Amino acid sequence: MSFRVTIRCPHCQERSIAISSREMSKTLREVTYRCTNELCGHTYVANLEVVRTLTVSSIPAADVHLPLSPHVRREQLLLLLEDEPAKP
Ligand SMILES: [Zn+2]
Repeated sequence: MSFRVTIRCPHCQERSIAISSREMSKTLREVTYRCTNELCGHTYVANLEVVRTLTVSSIPAADVHLPLSPHVRREQLLLLLEDEPAKP
């Protein structure tokens, strides 16, 4: 599953299209958007940032440190508790 990330122009709320992007780091990309409303003409930069992990990587990079999503921590805790031997 994949889809284009589109956002609305903050000024006129019309759809904007990405016209360029550049990688700032492994977790941050700057995307330049242009509003499709010709009466508006707003061009602007937005950040696309990786902020948390939902499923951990099987080949993690040593220099990438992302927090686990709170619901993942809960699921992992529940798995740990399931593995725990029952107390008498
Ligand atoms: Zn606009």
